[in-house]
Amino acid sequence: MAKRDYYEVLGVPKGATQDEIKKAYRKLTRKYHPDVNPGDQQAEEKFKEISEAYEVLSDEQKRAQYDQFGHAGTNGAGFGGFGGGGFQGTGFGGFEDIFDMFFGGSGFGGGGAAAARRPQRGADLRYDLTITFEEAAFGVKKDISIPRTETCKTCDGTGAAPGTTPSTCHVCNGTGQVQTAQNTPFGRFQSIRTCHHCHGTGEVITSPCSTCHGQGRVRRTRKISLTVPAGVDTGSRLRVAGEGEAGTLGGPSGDLYVVIKVRPHKVFQRKNQDVYMEIPITVVQAALGDEIEVDTLDGKSTVRIPEGTQTGASFTLKGKGIPKLHGSGRGDQHVKVQVVVPTNLNDKQKQLLREFGKTLGQSNFNVKDKSFFDKVKEAFMG
Ligand SMILES: [Zn+2]
Ligand SMILES: [Zn+2]
Repeated sequence: MAKRDYYEVLGVPKGATQDEIKKAYRKLTRKYHPDVNPGDQQAEEKFKEISEAYEVLSDEQKRAQYDQFGHAGTNGAGFGGFGGGGFQGTGFGGFEDIFDMFFGGSGFGGGGAAAARRPQRGADLRYDLTITFEEAAFGVKKDISIPRTETCKTCDGTGAAPGTTPSTCHVCNGTGQVQTAQNTPFGRFQSIRTCHHCHGTGEVITSPCSTCHGQGRVRRTRKISLTVPAGVDTGSRLRVAGEGEAGTLGGPSGDLYVVIKVRPHKVFQRKNQDVYMEIPITVVQAALGDEIEVDTLDGKSTVRIPEGTQTGASFTLKGKGIPKLHGSGRGDQHVKVQVVVPTNLNDKQKQLLREFGKTLGQSNFNVKDKSFFDKVKEAFMG
């Protein structure tokens, strides 16, 4: 049968003080003492269990060993798993010897476990921000809410209640690491690992800060005012230094990365710093030329369509594009015209077009390929 955890037996938390342990023990013995429960086998077992737990937990050294190694650390029973008496055969006088070996400070140190004690930088955070086409072009200020961990202000990140200080970990004597050795029929294996009691910090918090429950960090949603510079595009990453997750043990905070996504525009398309748009014009405008108003990022602007403009022709509005990110100058706007052929003509319009068609000659078409012109002529003149 698995042995119950001593803390569980006494009903106290792992970090319980000696006072708490004593109190719990007294309360339980009053209930389960054989004198109070004569002939009750279950109560007797319970009383034994409580006594054993108290014997270990009330003794700082035994408790430390128990914290580190569980039941195996306090008596031989836990090592029964080795079977066949292999363990007894190694010539150790008992567990005391082994623990002397474990904690003897025989010159080990500087192992990988030490890394855990160093202050750790907090993790970076990513936030995806969708903005409009215009906001990307000209920049925008945005308030964003970031859920993140922050250093607890109540305890300044120590995790200890104000006015108290963490005490040196009794398991590793403040080194944050323990050296373990295991004797097996195949030989003796040694390793250094992070102290599980203090998680490598070398300190244990006896009175945890009530705000962060001893974590030193708290979860907060933080509002951050963000300045998105002009010229960003989908995929642009803005780094906001120090606004990521809080570090541990006084380590610096991580950074916040805001990844930009630009919403598509109804009219404009963008390629780098240039803006593209298409605009329909009539056959008459295309043939005779016209001045047309188009939208730009700066409002209305005029494009001059010259006489004889073909569909697909493109006109450039210099400097009406997107500002260069962290630079000077702007791209251009390109306006591509689409000549729209009129539909639903009435009889009079049709008649006029036919008359017009008869007047067309080769000189009206700027086409170098003669055979192409023939096709055009056929099309117009039926
Ligand atoms: Zn705190
Ligand atoms: Zn420790």
